[in-house]
Amino acid sequence: MQLTAEQKTIRALAAEIARKEIAPHVATWDREHAFPRKLFTTMNDAGLMGILVPERYGGSGAGYAAYALAVEEIARVDAGSAVTLSVHSMICAAIDQLGSEEQKQRWLPRLAAQDAIAGFALTESDAGSDAANIRATAVRDGDGYRLDGRKQWCTSGRFAAVMMAMFRTGGPGAKGVSAFLVDPHGEGVRVERVTEKLGVRTSDTCDLAFERARVPRSALLGEDGSGFFGAMRALAGGRIGIAAQAAGILAACLDASVTFATERRAFGKTIGAFEGVSFKIARMATDLDAARLLAHEAAALADAGEAFAVAASKAKFFASTAARTHASEALQIHGGYGYTTEFPIERYYRDAKITEIYEGTSEIQQVIIGRSLLGRLE
Ligand SMILES: Cc1cc2nc3c(=O)[nH]c(=O)nc-3n(C[C@H](O)[C@H](O)[C@H](O)COP(=O)(O)OP(=O)(O)OC[C@H]3O[C@@H](n4cnc5c(N)ncnc54)[C@H](O)[C@@H]3O)c2cc1C
Repeated sequence: MQLTAEQKTIRALAAEIARKEIAPHVATWDREHAFPRKLFTTMNDAGLMGILVPERYGGSGAGYAAYALAVEEIARVDAGSAVTLSVHSMICAAIDQLGSEEQKQRWLPRLAAQDAIAGFALTESDAGSDAANIRATAVRDGDGYRLDGRKQWCTSGRFAAVMMAMFRTGGPGAKGVSAFLVDPHGEGVRVERVTEKLGVRTSDTCDLAFERARVPRSALLGEDGSGFFGAMRALAGGRIGIAAQAAGILAACLDASVTFATERRAFGKTIGAFEGVSFKIARMATDLDAARLLAHEAAALADAGEAFAVAASKAKFFASTAARTHASEALQIHGGYGYTTEFPIERYYRDAKITEIYEGTSEIQQVIIGRSLLGRLE
C-alpha cells in the first residue's frame, strides 16, 4: 500500500495518541464501561475528528484512506474508542454530502475542530437489518417537524452534540424515510436506556426516546423521503471504518500472539517453534494484510469519487470475519492466560464479535455483494 505523506502523518498521530492517551487506561475503562470523553478532545485538538471534513469547514479533508488508517491505529489499542471516531467521521461525511450550506456551516466546523461528537440513530427494536421498516415518525408541525418514537443502540447518544436520526415522514418502505440532524439533549429527547455490552465497552450505546420533540425544518438532512438512501450511503462509508476497526483488532491479536509465542515455553521449546502455533500466526498475518488491502481499496475508490459501496461491504465482511476468527486463535495461543484479564486478549475476543453485527451484519454484506453480481432474483 503506497501512502501519501499526509496519510503517514495521520497514521503516526493516531498511533501516538493510542499509545500515550489510551493504552495506559483502556483496561480500566473497559472494566468500568467508561466513555473516555476527554480522549475525543485530544483527538479533536490533533485533527483526527475532522479527517472527512473539507478544509473549508475546518477539517483536514484527508479522505477515507486516512480515516481507515486512523481508525485502525486507535482500534489496535481500543476498539470502543475507534468506533466512536468511525461513526463520528461517517456523520461528518454525510453532512458534507447531503447537507445544505447552512447545515455544513453550522455543524462541520464544530465536529471537525470544536470538540463536538456526532452519532447515528437508525435502528429500532423491530427494525435493524430491515432498516426501511422503521416506525419512529416525523410529522409536519407548523414550520418544523414533531418527532416521536424510540431509537435503539445509538452510538454516542449520551455524549453527541448532534445525531443523524431517521424518521418516517411518508408512507411505508424506504421512500417514506427522512433523515434529521437532531440534538440528543434537546427538549422532548431523553436517554431511555444505556446498553451494557459484551465488548466495545468504551463506546457509548444507548436508546433515545423522542416524545413530541420539535425540530425546525432546517434539521431535515437532504430531501424529504431521501433519508433511507442517505443513511445507506453514510453506512457504506462507515463500513470502511468498521473494516479498519476489525483490522486494528486483528493487528493487536497478531502483535500479542507473536510476543507470547516467542516467550512462552512448553516441552523445552518456545511455543512458536511448534507449527501448530506458527501456522495460526502465519494465517493471522496474511488475513491482516488482506483486510487492510480490501479496506484501502474501498477507501481509494471513495476518495476517487467512484462507486465504493460493494467494495466497502467486501472489506467489512472479510475483515470482521477475520477479526472474530483470529481473536479466538490468539486466545488459543495464549492458553489459559488468554482467558484471564491479565492479558488483553479476552477483550480483543469480546470486541471482535460486534464488527460482524453493526453497520450491517455479515449476512447483509453478503446480500449486497451477491446482489451486485446477480441482481435482485425472485
Ligand atoms: C454495540 C452496538 C452499537 C450499535 N450502534 C448503532 C448505531 O450507532 N446506530 C444504529 O442505528 N444502530 C446501531 N446498532 C444496531 C446494529 O446496526 C444492528 O444491531 C444491526 O444492523 C443488526 O440488526 P438487528 O440487531 O436488529 O438484527 P436483525 O436484523 O434482527 O438480524 C438478526 C439475524 O438475522 C439475520 N438477517 C436479517 N435479515 C437477513 C437477510 N435478509 N438475509 C440473511 N440474514 C438476515 C442477521 O444477519 C442476523 O444474523 C448497534 C448495535 C450494537 C450491538
